Amino acid sequence: MTDKTAIKSIPHASPTSADARAARMENPGFGKVFSDHMVTVTWTADKGWHDGELKARAPFSIDPAAAVLHYAQEIFEGMKAYRTEKGIVLFRPEENARRLAMSAERLAMPAVPEDLFLDAVEALVRADADWVPGGDGSLYLRPFMFANEAFLGVRPATQYIFSVIASPVGSYFKGGYKAVSVWVSDDYTRSAPGGTGAAKCGGNYAASLVAQAEASRHGCDQVVFLDAAEHRWVEELGGMNVCFVMDDGSLITPPLGGTILPGITRDSILTLARENGLRIEEKPYSFDEWRKDAESGKLREAFACGTAAVVAGIGTIRFNGGSFSIGNSGDGPVTARLRSELVGIQRGTAADKHGWVRPVL
Ligand SMILES: *Cc1c(COP(=O)(O)O)cnc(C)c1O
Repeated sequence: MTDKTAIKSIPHASPTSADARAARMENPGFGKVFSDHMVTVTWTADKGWHDGELKARAPFSIDPAAAVLHYAQEIFEGMKAYRTEKGIVLFRPEENARRLAMSAERLAMPAVPEDLFLDAVEALVRADADWVPGGDGSLYLRPFMFANEAFLGVRPATQYIFSVIASPVGSYFKGGYKAVSVWVSDDYTRSAPGGTGAAKCGGNYAASLVAQAEASRHGCDQVVFLDAAEHRWVEELGGMNVCFVMDDGSLITPPLGGTILPGITRDSILTLARENGLRIEEKPYSFDEWRKDAESGKLREAFACGTAAVVAGIGTIRFNGGSFSIGNSGDGPVTARLRSELVGIQRGTAADKHGWVRPVL
């Protein structure tokens, strides 16, 4: 690491008192409470990455013509720091670094080098270690990058800010695991071949919100997207990948092919499932098959997975024209087992055979 990208620490002049922090962390929900510090690093075409700072969390001052506000050159990551018996750890943060680099490439942005990404995330976790909840909470970390050049012409910007902020979060499932209900969207798709579906960019979320609102109107927790070309193949949820557990010992999940976000939870779950003797089939699975297999009992369990909720059983599926449920309404045995193995590794209560856990403090 060169000096140019070393992160300079400018501690908060008046950090939150222990009492105030405890009060805010008591029932934090998701993404509403923020820690004291942030990291920012600047990129310009002439200097590359420079001016890395860990400092008091504060609003950005950006020009009204900043490219991100007009052409949405923005990407992000989502990851968590966990408080374990052996200290504070991250889960596969190198994978987040790699994925951010892939997203950057797709949006014609400069890559954040892996060591700079890890330095930034770890510096923030160390500075705000007191904000890492115990129990089943965690410190949600949000690395992100946006185009900060004041220019209204359409081309890749020549200035960017990479930043990391942190938010203590409670367990996604307060008061026990419960199956989520999903709405299968007819009208909207999330991504198309050649599009940005495999990049973690804000624009994908902007495009998914109207479908998520439609799901809510139909009384569902989440939206399921089908493919854009045939409206037939199950792709993923708004922010989670999806897996199907069959009666023949196989686990089916849609293949990564550019339209699906390559989830780190998905990848970890597939590894654990394989070790549990399940046969992994990354293959297209249609909504018609889903319905038929649920009705015949061939489909035993379905679950969604992602960093925020980890693993969430899918109970009821609604669509234009009806609904069906999966026999094992919610947390089936395979879903429960895979979740508990993954959470055990993240929380340091199960052996980390794959070297997925990275100690920070
Ligand atoms: C982030 C994200 C996921 C889950 O990825 P994880 O690395 O498991 O958190 C799935 N789908 C979409 C659209 C996402 O943005």
